[in-house]
Amino acid sequence: MVYMNPTVDCPLCDQIGGHLLWQDDRCRVVRVDEPGYSAYCRVIWHTHVAEMTDLNPLDQTHCLRVVLTVESVLRALIKPDKINLASLGNFTPHLHWHVVARFQGDPHFPQSVWGPALRPSLPFALPLQSLSPEAFHQTFVRLWSRVNLS
Ligand SMILES: [Zn+2]
Repeated sequence: MVYMNPTVDCPLCDQIGGHLLWQDDRCRVVRVDEPGYSAYCRVIWHTHVAEMTDLNPLDQTHCLRVVLTVESVLRALIKPDKINLASLGNFTPHLHWHVVARFQGDPHFPQSVWGPALRPSLPFALPLQSLSPEAFHQTFVRLWSRVNLS
């Protein structure tokens, strides 16, 4: 899969943007290394567009279905206290959604993950923390394979 867009200086055009979990011809799902958040995922549109309304209606629907599918898989996988969905792109105006599994003991709960930390990140304080990145990846892919996005 080629993400490169030589006409813009954009990290999401130049790089996958995390650990690849799934992709099709329109977008990809990655897990991001974020301290305290082992299930921090992003849905990244392959082409360099800034807003959901830059997509045609079919692509808008596809993008949102992928976002909601990531949410469903994370809920089944680790049973978080809350899922946070966000599409910001103020620093990187390349369409991407944050899909973050939240726990009451995570570093920022109940604030957003971008605010000041309220407590330290404890490596084994949360159920997910005992799940290795490899086990997370394998289980995510297994659950994802049951999904029909067509
Ligand atoms: Zn881009």
